[in-house]
Amino acid sequence: MFTRTDVAELVPQICGPVLLPGDPGFAEEVAGFNLAAVHRPDLVVGADDTGDVITAVQWAAAHDEPVGVQATGHGADLPMEGGLLLTTRRMQELVVDPVRRCARIGAGVRWGSVIDAIAPHGLGVLNGSSTHAGAVGYTLGGGLPVLGRVFGFAADWVRALEVVTPDGRLRAVDAEHEPELFALLLGGKGNLGIVTTMTLELFPLGPLLGGGIFWPGEDAQEVLAAFSRWAPGLPAAASTSVALRWMPRSAAVDPRVARRQVVHLRFCWVGDPEEGRRALEPMRSTGRPLLDTVAPLDYRRIDRVHLDATQPGLYVLTGEFLRDFDAAALAALLQHAGPGTQCPLPEVGIRLMGGALAGPGARDDAVTGRDAAFFLELIGRLSPGVAERTPPALAAILRALAPWSTGRAFVNLHGMPGGESERARAWSEEVYARLVRAKAVYDPQNLLRFQHVVGQVR
Ligand SMILES: Cc1cc2nc3c(=O)[nH]c(=O)nc-3n(C[C@H](O)[C@H](O)[C@H](O)COP(=O)(O)OP(=O)(O)OC[C@H]3O[C@@H](n4cnc5c(N)ncnc54)[C@H](O)[C@@H]3O)c2cc1C
Repeated sequence: MFTRTDVAELVPQICGPVLLPGDPGFAEEVAGFNLAAVHRPDLVVGADDTGDVITAVQWAAAHDEPVGVQATGHGADLPMEGGLLLTTRRMQELVVDPVRRCARIGAGVRWGSVIDAIAPHGLGVLNGSSTHAGAVGYTLGGGLPVLGRVFGFAADWVRALEVVTPDGRLRAVDAEHEPELFALLLGGKGNLGIVTTMTLELFPLGPLLGGGIFWPGEDAQEVLAAFSRWAPGLPAAASTSVALRWMPRSAAVDPRVARRQVVHLRFCWVGDPEEGRRALEPMRSTGRPLLDTVAPLDYRRIDRVHLDATQPGLYVLTGEFLRDFDAAALAALLQHAGPGTQCPLPEVGIRLMGGALAGPGARDDAVTGRDAAFFLELIGRLSPGVAERTPPALAAILRALAPWSTGRAFVNLHGMPGGESERARAWSEEVYARLVRAKAVYDPQNLLRFQHVVGQVR
């Protein structure tokens, strides 16, 4: 708890803005991409640098004020009520060393900025389907990338982190220094501290073939059945997913597919484009596509593969790892989300896992999903008129696909998980137990108690 006098003492110690509800600029500082989860903190601190993060966390600990963190708001799944919100969008440090093949990335940097800086050097990173998301928040959640089957999870490529733990200490952690904290930050999301910078290993990235194929929604049965036979046999050079989705009307969407329900295959191939074209051929010759955009792809245009929303909206993203997506799973999916079912979800997708995503990982970490064959990815709208129908529709699909589930969720795409047992499904039992133990060591006050937290929420 704090008073206005306490805040007045904090203000001169922070370079960025310190705002209370009702102050000019408060709503803008708090706003994020997901308009369905508008945070209502007692105080927001716009951190300019690591020093601001340390000061704000020490101040919060002294006043027993819980702490939340936001870079872009892409992962604002649960609205924060009370507490101190640290916004990191001003922390834009980005240093690329093409010789040592690494990049030092500040807490507020989006993937798009990283890619613009490294693409001219022929280097790559493991961004997700939208390069508007924050690089650090995404990677701490494991990071399920567009090119994951070739290179693994984003977390596999983290060399080092600088993190402010809830005791207000800045710690430089890597595989040698505080290895348990390092391992659990990678996939443990925001449970153990506020990461101020991340050092990522970069990799040489050759030619890309990428884009999408679109069929009318009515062809869902035929296209998804073809996908379920074709995808598991692909080499690791191919990353792919398919979604039954309602396409918006936007500048990025071709008018031939805008404002209609389509089946959207996403495909990305790293290496010889001719081989990629051959691998894609069975899907190209399925049904009668409305549009095919798969072509040599400039890495800086990688958002063209998934065509995710770029404007803030009211949504929930959730999903489940699957051990299989066979004919019976497809029938269960279509029964609840197929054309003509009145399913209100704008997007119901299946991502192929496997390849390097199935590897043991570069080192010990808290990433979930290495044992999965597919990821079921659901997007629901929470805008007025549809908000009430969305949660039951999500629940019905998850229930219908439960027989194929590995029992695990992915923390980056886990939506609004609710109670502890549901939140715990984002990790294996062993990793969850380690996270709970580490939380007791690093955060005994339970200051970091918002979003996808481990343990009881007080
Ligand atoms: C359109 C869209 C596409 C997406 N595609 C993918 C995808 O392909 N693969 C995938 O894995 N995920 C994907 N996501 C999920 C995304 O990775 C998560 O939402 C992620 O949390 C975004 O990070 P952020 O920092 O931008 O979000 P924010 O909302 O700003 O932060 C979300 C949470 O991340 C944690 N966090 C953020 N910054 C820090 C920090 N500095 N220190 C500690 N914790 C921090 C906190 O727990 C915070 O509450 C997608 C999301 C959207 C909306």
